[in-house]
Order: sequence, then C-alpha cells, then structure tokens
Amino acid sequence: MVDLEGQTARIRPQIDKAIARVLDSSRYIGGEEVKSFNEELGDKLDGAFVTSCANGTDALQIALMALGVGAGDEVIVPAFTFISPVEVIALLGAKPVLVDVYPDTFNIDCEAVEAAITDRTKAVIAVHLFGQCANMGKLFAIAEKHAIFLIEDTAQAISSIYCDEHGLSGKAGTLGHIGTTSFFPSKNLGCFGDGGALITSSMDLASECQTIANHGSEIRYSHSEVGVNSRLDAIQAAILRIKLENLEEYNQARKEAAARYDNLLEGASGITIPHRDRRSSHVFHQYTVKVDLASGDNRTVLEALAEAEIPSAIYYPLPVHLQSAYNWLDYKEGDFPVSEKLSKTVLSLPMHTELCMEQQEYIAKHLLAAIK
Ligand SMILES: *Cc1c(COP(=O)(O)O)cnc(C)c1O
Repeated sequence: MVDLEGQTARIRPQIDKAIARVLDSSRYIGGEEVKSFNEELGDKLDGAFVTSCANGTDALQIALMALGVGAGDEVIVPAFTFISPVEVIALLGAKPVLVDVYPDTFNIDCEAVEAAITDRTKAVIAVHLFGQCANMGKLFAIAEKHAIFLIEDTAQAISSIYCDEHGLSGKAGTLGHIGTTSFFPSKNLGCFGDGGALITSSMDLASECQTIANHGSEIRYSHSEVGVNSRLDAIQAAILRIKLENLEEYNQARKEAAARYDNLLEGASGITIPHRDRRSSHVFHQYTVKVDLASGDNRTVLEALAEAEIPSAIYYPLPVHLQSAYNWLDYKEGDFPVSEKLSKTVLSLPMHTELCMEQQEYIAKHLLAAIK
C-alpha cells in the first residue's frame, strides 16, 4: 500500500545527518528540534500555532480537554471513520453522537450534524477523510449558530486547501477552532515512529494544549490542571523537519498518481473513481474507489487483487455504530445506511509517492478484471 523504503532512500543522507545532530546534542526530549519543527509546520499552515505531541489520537484527546469536554457532554462525530476521534470522546466520559456521511466525499453530513445537536452538545469533530476537507463553511456556520466547537481531524488531509463559495479559505486544520494531525509513518507527513500535533490560530488555545500535553504544568512541578504526558521525540521532530520541506512535492506525486488511476479506471462499469469536492484540494492520503458487483462486495475484489499480489485495503470495513466496543451507545444496523453501504463498497488502492505508471497499469488491469 505504501513504499516508505523508496521515499526514505531519496532523503537518506539528510535524515542520517539530522539524527546524528540530535545524538550529538543529547537533547532527546523537547529542545530546538521540536521548537523549530512546530514553527516550521505552523508557517506552512497559514501561520497557525502548532503544538506537537505523541500521536494523532493524543492530539484529539488534548483538543477535547483544551475545549473543556468532559462527563455529560456530547460530541458529534462521523460513523464512518478511523476509531480515534470516537475513542477519545468516550475516554473523557463524554458521549460520542454518531452521524452519517455523504456517499460521494465520505465526509460528515452537515444536515445530520445540525439534526443531532442537543443542549449537551459541546463540539463536533470533522474527519477530513482520505485527503479531502469536509464542508467547513457549513460546519462552521452550524457551530457558530449553536455555540459549539469545531474540531478538524486532519490526520489524512495535512496541507489540503479549502476554499468555498462563502469566502472561507485556508489549510485543513486552520478552519475550525482547533485541528489535529498524526505523523504515523504512512501518513502524508510521516515520521519514523509515532507523532502528532495540534493546530490552532488561537494563542490561548495553543498554550492550553501545551500545558495539558505537559502534565497540566506551565511551571515545573506546579500543576494547574489534570494533564497527560504526550511529547514528540526530538529525533522524530528532526526527521519531520526534512520531510516537511518535501511535503508539497510528496502531495504533488500523490496527485499525479491519482490522475493516472483516474485515466485508467474512469468510465469502467462497476467502479466509481474518487469524487472531487470543488471546495477542497485532495492530497490523496488514500485513493479510494467504490465497487459495485453483481455478486460479491469489496472483499471479493480485495481477494482477487491479492491473488495477483496487489495490496489493497478496506477503510473502513465496519462503521463505528456496529463495533462491539460501542454497543453501549445503543445504535443498530440500519441507523447509518451510507456508512454501512460504504463499508461494503469502498476499496483503497496502493497510494504513495513512489508509484509509477507500470505499477498502476498492472493494478488497473487486475482491478477491471475483478469487477467484470
Ligand atoms: C491515523 C489517524 C488517527 C490517529 O493517529 P495516530 O497517530 O495513529 O494516533 C486519527 N484520525 C485519523 C482520521 C487517522 O487517519
């Protein structure tokens, strides 16, 4: 699905140097590398304040804590997502309120968000799925109207650009009250381990996130609130500084690979290529098609591709409301029909910065044969 080896090989000398620099400094926690990375990422994200932390899941938890989400609160989140945003709501004693997504963009359904708002709603988490922003203009208007917070999970959409008909524009993560991201190795901006960050244009909120991530402490051994320990390692920050310089080039390579897939697959019956939302650029964390078979589903196609030694993946094979860990939310099959249908039709093809035409032709040939 990804070729980290090829990508790393191209920057290996700089990476080796960066790691050596950290070893020579013996500064493994905090320090110059982390500070510089936070600033450099902030510069790339419309001058936002960036607070790095240990991973993208922690970033979501810290965001909710910074906004004061706790027991008795409700937070609205899509039913078709990676589990992190749902998990952290539950961990804080709040209630995840699930809503369906749009069948074309896979992003949170704005009408469903508005319909799910109650007196207890504190926030909504928009997950920018697969590399394309949710409808932030509409979501922001809803958030303003009901005085709730808007959080953007940008783990799959870092550097995606949003611009809508109402004049709202900016980079993913800077459009709501607070954004979060992940530097998991396979993400568009990935390190060599775990990492994550919070993004906000509010200096106060950024400083609150920093305090929470550091044991609820601003002054050493003085704790003003209950916090967590969540840090980005200096070595990872040094690596990320190099990867960040190449991020636009990486995203461009993904975009070109996506265009090649489009050409190979467009118009074939039984397959729908990824929809492009005119409001958002697409950074193609995943290239996800929908398959429609006379008999069988996405799993059938995945297995056929596996026969030809082509990796593919179903993100996500079971929507949140049908996961046993969330039985207590009392949802049932049929509650989120779009999410349920997507879980049986979506298929993500190999997508990374090193993909070439020959590989994609081979993939397309076998994919088209599998849906015949
Ligand atoms: C990867 C991912 C996360 C979690 O990031 P980690 O760094 O693995 O904790 C959260 N949300 C989404 C949408 C993701 O894709």
